[in-house]
Amino acid sequence: MHLKHLEWPFFEDKHRKLAAELNAWCAVHLQHGHGDDIDAECKSLVKALGQGGWLIHAVGDAIDTRAICILRETLARYNGLADFAFAMQGLGSGAISLMGTQAQRERYLPRVARGEALSAFALSEPDAGSDVAAMQCSATEDGEAYLLNGEKSWISNGGIADFYLLFARTGEAPGSRGISAFIVDAGLPGFEIAERIHVIAPHPLARLKFTNCRVPKSQMIGAPGEGFKVAMRTLDVFRTSVAAASLGFARRALEEGLKQAKGRKMFGATLAELPLTQAKLADMACTVDSSALLVYRAAWQRDQGQVVTREAAMAKLMATEGAQRVIDAAVQLHGGRGVQSGEIVESLYREIRALRIYEGASEVQQLIIGRDLLK
Ligand SMILES: Cc1cc2nc3c(=O)[nH]c(=O)nc-3n(C[C@H](O)[C@H](O)[C@H](O)COP(=O)(O)OP(=O)(O)OC[C@H]3O[C@@H](n4cnc5c(N)ncnc54)[C@H](O)[C@@H]3O)c2cc1C
Repeated sequence: MHLKHLEWPFFEDKHRKLAAELNAWCAVHLQHGHGDDIDAECKSLVKALGQGGWLIHAVGDAIDTRAICILRETLARYNGLADFAFAMQGLGSGAISLMGTQAQRERYLPRVARGEALSAFALSEPDAGSDVAAMQCSATEDGEAYLLNGEKSWISNGGIADFYLLFARTGEAPGSRGISAFIVDAGLPGFEIAERIHVIAPHPLARLKFTNCRVPKSQMIGAPGEGFKVAMRTLDVFRTSVAAASLGFARRALEEGLKQAKGRKMFGATLAELPLTQAKLADMACTVDSSALLVYRAAWQRDQGQVVTREAAMAKLMATEGAQRVIDAAVQLHGGRGVQSGEIVESLYREIRALRIYEGASEVQQLIIGRDLLK
């Protein structure tokens, strides 16, 4: 059922082949849920994804947005942590793929693609989340280097990443025009993991602290002051892929809901035979398909070289909010089992929540769409 949409004209044969091969790989290598040692699990997932050849799609000269979305949708359907592991390799190295120098690309991208180096994307700060331009972490010139001072918070892969794509204020102009992007290797003197952060759907997350941390000028991506542009170009690709991951979670919830409805006996029939259940399933299916259309429109449009700021925002807004509703309906169909720890729908319910907040909260997506309409 889940591969049928690949017949849509958004896709080429290479995408259908990718989806079929990936599904076969996931069925063998992944299962829902995770153990207690999330750090170790993430590292081994990155290695497995590298060995499977899947991470190649997250890096390189010509990023295929549809391929990235198919990967995230499929991985999320099987295992949220596998999707997270894939996404972070792409998000953390995306700026190097899109705007890095030849030396930067050679040094980092092959290791990311093989799953030998883990990457992270460090934009948010304790007092600068949605309001990125309020960023305070600074980078001041010091000979052939920059000295980093300040904090970054809510950084996925924080504590296990080998390098961080970090944004800091270099002060060429006020607000978002005075920010630059750097590749910062883990373990540099003056760089510490100040706090590990625990969230409802566990994944590695940390607050980072920099005290006179010396980063060579050769580690800058783009020109001084171009950091905001670097961040936005990266997010234009990966924002759509957050929507794709939500779509994968929603598809899994619909599958689980259907299974439960058909199997659960009540009132001398099955739950599925009750009209209210059919209405619920219909709503879930409509939401899944409309999210899929928005996700792959944005992905296709970007692959045609078009600007996708509005379309990516629409896809993220609708797919994340829609997935939350679909998953909630699946929990409801499961009754008490729906909130029992270890149940698939229970973990989906926790996993989807943060996607409505990160890479631009839903309200930020609404602003982007509204402003674009009024242009
Ligand atoms: C699990 C997780 C992983 C993350 N990973 C990363 C990462 O790897 N790298 C990174 O840099 N950051 C990461 N983040 C941070 C994330 O991007 C921020 O949490 C997000 O941008 C929101 O910022 P904030 O938490 O400071 O909330 P605030 O900016 O304080 O916003 C709070 C709420 O205000 C509302 N809001 C925001 N803007 C508006 C508006 N214009 N109008 C009305 N309401 C509004 C929204 O509902 C929002 O949720 C992660 C966050 C989470 C939860």
